[in-house]
Amino acid sequence: MTSIVPSARLVGLLQGRGPVLVLTGAGVSQESGIATFRDASGIWEGIDPMQVATPRAFAADPEFVWRFYDARRAQAATVEPNPAHHAVAAIEATGRTFLLATQNVDGLHERAGSRSLVRLHGSLWRLRCTRCGDEHEDLRPKLAPLPPHCAACGGMLRPGVVWFEEPLPMIEFARAERAAREAELVFVVGTSSLVYPAASLQTVGVSSGGYVVEINPVRTPFSDDASEHLSGPAGVVLPALLKAAGIPMDRAA
Ligand SMILES: [Zn+2]
Repeated sequence: MTSIVPSARLVGLLQGRGPVLVLTGAGVSQESGIATFRDASGIWEGIDPMQVATPRAFAADPEFVWRFYDARRAQAATVEPNPAHHAVAAIEATGRTFLLATQNVDGLHERAGSRSLVRLHGSLWRLRCTRCGDEHEDLRPKLAPLPPHCAACGGMLRPGVVWFEEPLPMIEFARAERAAREAELVFVVGTSSLVYPAASLQTVGVSSGGYVVEINPVRTPFSDDASEHLSGPAGVVLPALLKAAGIPMDRAA
């Protein structure tokens, strides 16, 4: 079903106490002004993802790859969480069993107050040592000199994101998969549902009997399998949904 008006069933589930899983993708970041590689504009203009977002690219030219990620960090630092990020945090703030599994690496969910979250594709703000494996957070929007090096062992640091040809973090994915099996209500927000295995989570939600709601401006390969499809920007649809369910937006930390 495609609609911009939520069903009574959905509003009822949102008002209930059952476990909720929210899956978010690039569309949610895009509404804050973050460019995605599918735009092929902004910092992605003229950049082939395979030149910057694979282990091979990093091995071939770490400085080039780091300049790109430094630009992404700088961009992420200049934008703000949008109403979709705040709405997700507000659902968590109701105190029910909740998990957010995001494919986004920009840290906007965290800045909006989300705490119970797994980052399926890592984070722009985490750096990992290629020699000793140490990983830490670094919130400086600009790193210098590039590439950065490990304070502990002197090894080269890499962005703490998941690149093409790399597996998703196993513990995080397992946690999201468990939540997908147990959730009564699953939101699939701003994702093309094309990127596997992240896209398999909503399928797990459906096959486990959860009520799976897709929120996207356009229909996706998953739309026909969703319990309900709400058409529109997440930053409009999610706050309207919370309003219909009587959940305040300002309770988020
Ligand atoms: Zn190290």
